[in-house]
Amino acid sequence: MGALPKQKTSKARKGKRRSHLHLELPPLETCQQCGTKKVTHHVCLECGTYRGRQILRMKEAPASE
Ligand SMILES: [Zn+2]
Repeated sequence: MGALPKQKTSKARKGKRRSHLHLELPPLETCQQCGTKKVTHHVCLECGTYRGRQILRMKEAPASE
């Protein structure tokens, strides 16, 4: 048998340890083209541009939704 913990980890101690385990929102910035929030260093999903260049072919009316 390998090494085993001497004491049982209590629910409170386990909860305290896991209090930092949560997902965080990715860093957001404002798009230079359309002004909506976008993930940094990613192509804007609203207008399909990145650093002023058109990357994605967007539909003609993206604001119809
Ligand atoms: Zn945009």
